[in-house]
Amino acid sequence: MSNLDATARPVLRGGRQSVPGRPAHELLAPRLASLGGGTEVRRLLPNLGRRMVGAWCFVDHYGPDDIADEPGMWVPPHPHTNLQTVSWLHAGEVLHRDSVGSERLVRSRELGLMTAGHGISHAEQSPRRHARLLHGAQLWVALPEAHRDVPPAFEHHADLPTLHSGGGLDGIVVLGEIDGAVSPGTTYSPLLGVDITLAEGADATLPLQPDFEHAVLTMSGTARIDGVALPPGSMLYLGCGRDGLRLQADSDSGLLLLGGEPFDEQIVMWWNFIGRSQADIERARAEWAAGAERFGRIDGFDGDPLAAPELPPLPLKARGRER
Ligand code: MN
Repeated sequence: MSNLDATARPVLRGGRQSVPGRPAHELLAPRLASLGGGTEVRRLLPNLGRRMVGAWCFVDHYGPDDIADEPGMWVPPHPHTNLQTVSWLHAGEVLHRDSVGSERLVRSRELGLMTAGHGISHAEQSPRRHARLLHGAQLWVALPEAHRDVPPAFEHHADLPTLHSGGGLDGIVVLGEIDGAVSPGTTYSPLLGVDITLAEGADATLPLQPDFEHAVLTMSGTARIDGVALPPGSMLYLGCGRDGLRLQADSDSGLLLLGGEPFDEQIVMWWNFIGRSQADIERARAEWAAGAERFGRIDGFDGDPLAAPELPPLPLKARGRER
């Protein structure tokens, strides 16, 4: 999915200075963002006061939308750099095409994991014949310096390891490892993503890594995370230093647990690009505009690619790297 926020300036993210070393409760409300074509999403990350959770740097939540009589999702070809995208659905399906030749239908609770690395372009749309409901999340993972220019790749994992911890909790390991279950998805920094289904009345505890920071997004239902009631569609940032997390549900609930080692490096995010400097962003923008080889070609998409917005004239304020 794409960031269509045409007015935004490049912004610095990352660094440990804003990461609490101990458990925290920060309730993050979503803000509405448009993806064009009538698709509205609710953006949880970046959020005022909380920019990243581990290497997770972007979280959009959309639906459930009734698209029975509509085309549904329509995101034309657009580029990415220095990040991975994670497509995660709770209902419906998305047809993914990219410049490394992938054309895959990603269904509910299957992992579509695209590594942009040095550069990739992709398009996402609802297939012509699609389910009535579309409900999902689109997430980005920032790549660390040593791996930010890896060759682009796409992985589709339909059979992910599951958790059955009892207490009314079922989990799917999307990325990383929890309770001995390991996702096959490729990661480049210590990272965790777990899809959690809580039955009404559930009361369960999941083991966590204390050196990770964590957050939970409620995609549906009303859940209590570490005793905090979470309105549907909101995210609770949990800080670091936890070895377990209690999850309770007042109704059937669908959650996404995100975690990771706090991301030490500072990154620059603008539009669909991540880099380390304004110059990285300017170069990526110019190369996309010029149709450079870096972003390849996409076969089979019936429409024009997205044009990058203008970069604001003022350069990004240099702040140096903080560790
Ligand atoms: Mn995208």
